[in-house]
Amino acid sequence: MTATIIDGKAFAADVRAQVATHVGRLKQENGITPGLAVVLVGEDPASQVYVRSKGKQTVEVGMNSFEHKLPADTSAEDLYALIDQLNNDPAVHGILCQFPVPDHLSESDIVARIDPAKDVDGLHILNIGRLASGQDAMAPCTPLGCLMLLRDQLGSLSGKSAVVVGRSNLVGKPMAQLLLRDSCTVTIAHSRTKDLGAVCREADILVAAVGRPQMIPGDWVKPGATVIDVGINRIQHPENPEKTKLVGDVDFAGCAEVAGAITPVPGGVGPMTIACLLANTLTACCRANGLAEPEGLTA
Ligand code: NDP
Repeated sequence: MTATIIDGKAFAADVRAQVATHVGRLKQENGITPGLAVVLVGEDPASQVYVRSKGKQTVEVGMNSFEHKLPADTSAEDLYALIDQLNNDPAVHGILCQFPVPDHLSESDIVARIDPAKDVDGLHILNIGRLASGQDAMAPCTPLGCLMLLRDQLGSLSGKSAVVVGRSNLVGKPMAQLLLRDSCTVTIAHSRTKDLGAVCREADILVAAVGRPQMIPGDWVKPGATVIDVGINRIQHPENPEKTKLVGDVDFAGCAEVAGAITPVPGGVGPMTIACLLANTLTACCRANGLAEPEGLTA
């Protein structure tokens, strides 16, 4: 079997186009422009690239982008004062603080300070609880992106056996909750799971969110399964030791021979994360204004 390659780049472009259409309608019919505020503390080069990319894509879909760049020695009080100001600003519908932050700041305290209705990263404890209890929540962007790809590929997920490898608060746990909401039978595997290969082989849907390059070989995949590779790992290039290469958590070539469909790295899950951030900002804006949520762009 040779798997269908799931084109996350094209799908993310489609999600952004749908968001742009909704934004255009909101502006025209309701006079509302959704706004996303991104806060960056310090000068971490990778974070600067992410923030720039988020700002560019926000503007491209017609939303307002508010960037707040603070020095690395910003105190918690000053950061919280900015977050409070953004919480109270009606032009801001989504707030995101780019992580990691410098060591003297607490990521969990920062997330707790953000108004849950504007928590477009879906990391606030209230959104985690709402997701787990089946209420309207902001779903974290990367797992939401995986869910959209799976629904597009498979249609209904009901009754499917899903295995999520990884139990982080950012990816693994919310991914499992989203699959459960879509009526999958879900197993969460982690570093203490016994005979991980046997567990993975049971999966109609296999999501790898581990952070270990190519650790899932082809013979862990059930024939015809859909494999979603969340991992982003930089390794030495096999043909040129002076270069590096991005790979996922699954052995792509080996798994593609067995799976029914598979996401590549890069170009699979990665592009979906920012697209879902924009979708969440649109959802937050609609909810804040008592308007219908955009269909197909929420969990
Ligand atoms: P974490 O390090 O927070 O979590 C990794 C998880 O993998 C843990 O639950 C850990 O188990 C589990 N694990 C580690 N080793 C093994 C093993 N040998 N067997 C089974 N399970 C194992 O990572 P994240 O969830 O934040 O990220 C996972 C990957 O996804 C990374 O490569 C990251 O770069 C990528 N990522 C990609 C995004 C995107 O936009 N595409 C966004 C976010 C992350 P335990 O809990 O027992 O330690």
